[in-house]
Amino acid sequence: MNINVAPQASNMVLLNKSFGQDGSVKFLWGMPDEVKSVESVYFTINGKPAACISTQIGCTVGCVFCETGKQKVLGNLSAGEIVRQIAAVNDDRRAADPGFKKLDTAIVAGMGEPLLNIDALKEAAYTMLEDEMVEHVTVTTSGILPAFEKLKESPFSILSISLHATDNDTRTRLIPINKKYPIEDLLATARDLRESTDMPIIMNYLMFDGVNDSDADLERLIGLLDPSLYRVKLKQWNTIDETELTSSPLERFKTFEAGLKGEGFDVSIDYSMGVELDAGCGQLRSRVREMRHARKETA
Ligand code: SF4
Repeated sequence: MNINVAPQASNMVLLNKSFGQDGSVKFLWGMPDEVKSVESVYFTINGKPAACISTQIGCTVGCVFCETGKQKVLGNLSAGEIVRQIAAVNDDRRAADPGFKKLDTAIVAGMGEPLLNIDALKEAAYTMLEDEMVEHVTVTTSGILPAFEKLKESPFSILSISLHATDNDTRTRLIPINKKYPIEDLLATARDLRESTDMPIIMNYLMFDGVNDSDADLERLIGLLDPSLYRVKLKQWNTIDETELTSSPLERFKTFEAGLKGEGFDVSIDYSMGVELDAGCGQLRSRVREMRHARKETA
């Protein structure tokens, strides 16, 4: 399949590019209508080049720890606009380093909830793979359960699920869509996908101090998850403005890691990439908008 990324997506212009000390590069792309903008982030995982890309502008899921969730929802990106982000990052990296060949992985975890734009995303993923722009496409979701059926026939090599809590009250507080798709339904649907497709599933667990990092949380997490079905990633959080949340201390990460390992889980701690770049999804877009706003006010 080869979709047409022109004309609308080919007119994407680079509005901002920033470099992190960890080697990450963050891009803010402007869309042809001059209103919409989206982010992509380049970084390496285990030495392999990857890019985190966006599927929507704004997001209706409204996670309290996410900058994108606070932004006005301007809609879905087209398949072409999703593909174009990968093409543009590949072009940029080749220009920076003539030895650079291509990205290894497209990580669909930037701005937006990917499963709310699943049809365009699947079309984009097939194109990226068939056109050899990347080797793998992975996707991260907050758990939009009706779309899981469409994952059964899809090109994704890994699905990551943002679990982030072990009880429904806490998860609904963090991820309001949990009210509609509670933990027990999420886990039953994930199990069905895992067993019917063999698609590797990672349970992401952002750790917040005093919110979801107690010994009781660890015990519940072990009770909820089956180590034969899921890997677990304990994730450090990129702080955003106007929130009372703080990331858990390192000691809690270590306690969770040891507890899960002791129960046979494949578990890792994922320290935040690009923290100094505002690399949490939606953060660069918000910063640039604030800067433009400030410039207008001082003009
Ligand atoms: S974390 Fe993802 S799903 Fe949640 S509000 Fe942000 S972009 Fe949307």
